[in-house]
Amino acid sequence: MMYVSTRDSNNKCSSAEAIRDGIAKDGGLFVPEYIPSLTKDDFDKIGEMSYEERAAFVLSKILEDYTYEELLGYSKNAYARFFGDPCPVVCVDEGLYVLELWHGPTCAFKDMALTMLPHLLTGARKKTGEKTKSLILVATSGDTGKAALEGFRDVEGTDIIVFYPSDGVSEMQKLQMKTQLGNNVYVCAIKGNFDDAQNAVKTIFNDPNIVKQLLEKGYKLSSANSINWGRLAPQIVYYISSYMDLVNSDQITFGEKVNFCVPSGNFGDILAGYYAHKMGVPVNKLICASNKNKVLTDFFETGTYDINRDFYKTISPSMDILISSNLERLLYEITGKDDKKVVSYMKDLKTKGKYTISEEELNKIKEIFDAGYADEDMTKDAIAAEDEVDDYIMDPHTGVAMAVYDDYLDRTNDETKTIILSTASAYKFPCDVYEAITESKLSDAFEATKKLQNFTGLEIPEPLMGLKNREVRFNDIIEKTSIADAVLEYVNKGE
Ligand SMILES: *Cc1c(COP(=O)(O)O)cnc(C)c1O
Repeated sequence: MMYVSTRDSNNKCSSAEAIRDGIAKDGGLFVPEYIPSLTKDDFDKIGEMSYEERAAFVLSKILEDYTYEELLGYSKNAYARFFGDPCPVVCVDEGLYVLELWHGPTCAFKDMALTMLPHLLTGARKKTGEKTKSLILVATSGDTGKAALEGFRDVEGTDIIVFYPSDGVSEMQKLQMKTQLGNNVYVCAIKGNFDDAQNAVKTIFNDPNIVKQLLEKGYKLSSANSINWGRLAPQIVYYISSYMDLVNSDQITFGEKVNFCVPSGNFGDILAGYYAHKMGVPVNKLICASNKNKVLTDFFETGTYDINRDFYKTISPSMDILISSNLERLLYEITGKDDKKVVSYMKDLKTKGKYTISEEELNKIKEIFDAGYADEDMTKDAIAAEDEVDDYIMDPHTGVAMAVYDDYLDRTNDETKTIILSTASAYKFPCDVYEAITESKLSDAFEATKKLQNFTGLEIPEPLMGLKNREVRFNDIIEKTSIADAVLEYVNKGE
């Protein structure tokens, strides 16, 4: 099975090439030429498997360049870094379940894919005969940087450099990055905001002079962000896995439809759910939950995607996004793989900041998607209510999903059993969660962590526990104009 670009169906490549290159030369995203279906027999087999085996089995259907055995080696390595079950399904109420995706090394759901991506990328390099080393450059507002660092640390043939805005990440996130282990990593703060870091990184990718200098040192630039198919594919697995977990525990009978409610930003997570549905998971609705930056909610309602609007900083910062890149993949599918139409929508987005899909396309989307948003108060109320009523503690991103689901229930009375995807540990955002539950404010993350634990009895995840006492390895703060120099200095030092 080949992969094609969303902007030119004739631009084809293998799964290994799609993962190696990350993005198509025409600017489009790689998608599978067709989506393979799982048979009842496949589902039965999956039901019997460990999560590692499930990942290898599902990925072997999608990524044909890799054997099941290879993929099993990757997934065993990747998910050994998790604490206990990589993604347990917790029943919080009758017919309502939470899929916890944050038991990995950085306590956010990005670990589910970013622990796998380095193996997929290393494999892709070998399969395609790539001799140069990969230099992964990341600009981060918090979660992605740390998860990428953990994923790529000490991975052969790869180095990773992460830039973050010195004053733009939480105390917890900053410490997580400054104490990063590994011999192939470099972390650096910049004087500037996230956009400055992002723009500087993009400039490096497009600067032929720097690209040439890096190549002379044996490096090719690569990206770990969620437009890479190698990040999306591992996310399909947990939809299939959680469905089979519910079948196995007699919560549902095989074939019964479920809803998934997904806190969304870049639209990668929920899109993986769409692919899982296409592969055969019985889905009633995929509910797309947004925070106050509700560009997706408006799109699903009106068919117009419009980024000409205010941008809000919220307590669910990983969903503070106006351009949801992965939506392009859904457009490709619902236009019936009409690459020209995708090109015209993306052109409108670039030139006018908006595009409008046809009514027929919107109706197609509505067959399977529902959408809603929650503002800050609704989110905090949902967190407090879950604590009080169901004795379950959730982070603000999951809180958004819960609030949106409550709203959906009121609106539809839909009794379909529902899985809420939980994307971060509550302890990654201890101040906001503590405030939501107790209505008192704390500004010190460690104090909040301690108090939250006293209050809830909820276990603190290992990666966050010893953070305060860990050795700080990276203290550099540079001007935003010096980012390229820092990259060149890093590769020159490596000799
Ligand atoms: C990245 C992230 C999201 C949003 O996921 P997308 O795939 O970008 O839609 C939600 N919650 C958390 C905690 C995240 O880190």
